Amino acid sequence: MAFTSDIEIARAAKKRPIGEIGAKLGIGADDLVPYGHDKAKIGQPFIDSLADRPNGKLILVTAVNPTPAGEGKTTTTVGLGDGLSAIGKKAAICIREASLGPCFGMKGGAAGGGYAQVVPMEDMNLHFTGDFHAITSAHNLLSAMIDNHIYWGNELGIDTRRVTWRRVMDMNDRALRQITTSLGGVANGFPREAGFDITVASEVMACLCLASSLADLQDRLGAIIVAYTRDRTPVYARDIKADGAMTVLLKDAMQPNLVQTLENNPAFVHGGPFANIAHGCNSVIATTTALKLADYVVTEAGFGADLGAEKFMNIKCRKAGLAPDCVVLVATVRAMKMNGGVKKADLGAENVDAVQAGCANLGRHLENLRGFGVPVVVAINHFAGDTEAEIAAVQDFIAGQGAEAILCKHWANGSDGTRDLAAKVVATIEAGGADFAPLYPDEMGLADKIDTICRRIYRADGAQMDSKIRAQLKQWEDQGHGHLPVCMAKTQYSFSTDPEARGAPTGFTIPVREVRLSAGAGFVVAICGEIMTMPGLPRVPSAEAIGLNDAGDIEGLF
Ligand code: ADP
Ligand code: MG
Repeated sequence: MAFTSDIEIARAAKKRPIGEIGAKLGIGADDLVPYGHDKAKIGQPFIDSLADRPNGKLILVTAVNPTPAGEGKTTTTVGLGDGLSAIGKKAAICIREASLGPCFGMKGGAAGGGYAQVVPMEDMNLHFTGDFHAITSAHNLLSAMIDNHIYWGNELGIDTRRVTWRRVMDMNDRALRQITTSLGGVANGFPREAGFDITVASEVMACLCLASSLADLQDRLGAIIVAYTRDRTPVYARDIKADGAMTVLLKDAMQPNLVQTLENNPAFVHGGPFANIAHGCNSVIATTTALKLADYVVTEAGFGADLGAEKFMNIKCRKAGLAPDCVVLVATVRAMKMNGGVKKADLGAENVDAVQAGCANLGRHLENLRGFGVPVVVAINHFAGDTEAEIAAVQDFIAGQGAEAILCKHWANGSDGTRDLAAKVVATIEAGGADFAPLYPDEMGLADKIDTICRRIYRADGAQMDSKIRAQLKQWEDQGHGHLPVCMAKTQYSFSTDPEARGAPTGFTIPVREVRLSAGAGFVVAICGEIMTMPGLPRVPSAEAIGLNDAGDIEGLF
């Protein structure tokens, strides 16, 4: 059989008009704000009207540590949503929007893959409904107002060497990482060092994704720290009086987007914060809205379970008052092999021993997730070359842990490949037993929170923080930020800070290099490694192969 690319499968989709998808969830035509024929936003008054309805069940899809072999969290989220619908459940999925920058860098979209995709995938990977452009504008409005404030006399006494608010653009452009602004004379302001981050790294993105309403969004935007005065007093966005206008720019972006899967089931695609310096989950408003409209809501968190699921539980669920009913932990035979020491080039050959060795990584994630008080089902995302013996090795290992690993073939077969998983998830939820609790209480000190995540989730011998970092955390506690959760920024490839240490490493500590306060989003970021907030393009960017064909269709995008 000839290989069919994701974009070819997506283009052949038999899409239904978006009104029909909304109707499946009981959303009337007047409550949908269509963006063309196949995308819509959900109106704010309708969202407000749902407040008293009961919530459906919440299922988190997470995975083992990512390897270059690929795991397929989004693909499995879509596949499970379609599988639940196929067995007769009212289900919806919630995933993140895509950033433009990476689309033109490396191949690999954000809409799932194979026969488990969200459509229109081209739109979703490009401008979509313009949310990220709105976030870019709101962010840069604040940047402009800060420099304008300084230009017109700097009444707030901002130390121009300590402006922490940068600018953003939704593009991979390393040339903008570090720049000098206001060159060219008196009329252009006071020259200072500045720089750009990619839009998904903006704190405005994190604020939008954690906000429960437009009023809450404005409060969060106002609480963003943009600069410090000479005596190190923080200056907030509300001091610059930018929060109102920023909220106006974000009014539409705050409304969740509704699209559909290849099997015409509802998909909420909304928000997309970085998974390192932010929490890496779709918006709270999309998830809470979906929970009011569907009986089963499947959502995804970025990276592996050590980062993504941990932040989903400790940041998103804590802040939004959510409690997951079941976790689906995605593993692949290929990823187990790589965790067991096999090189990418050798993944084609059967290697049961390596699969067994690599399962140590899976086992640790399983144990960690159970620690949150939520039942876990393992999904083996089947790849064409997996052998029966290798699959059995994963299933035997998981059975030994008192859980079940279900083989899933959604990438090749759509919902036919996930009926077993869907049935298992439903049975698990119906059996009850979920008793969610975050890993640490709000009252715990900030340094202890960091240390707790390092010990309990990464299984490190502790966090390493020098006195300067401890003093900074103490100061934030004294200023009333001690109740905030912690957002860990470290490599996604390992439990440790060494990306090469796959499997289940032990005997390491986690050095914390820097801490940052995201007072608007509402977390303290602990940076443990090199974190890139403005990516670059590779030597041969995928943009070189993207273009329109004679029929006017997009070619080369995945
Ligand atoms: P994640 O959400 O974990 O980053 P995705 O679901 O986006 O991963 O999948 C990453 C890539 O792997 C996509 O291009 C997808 O098409 C591909 N992929 C996922 N599952 C399979 C599979 N079973 N067989 C082949 N390719 C797959
Ligand atoms: Mg994904």
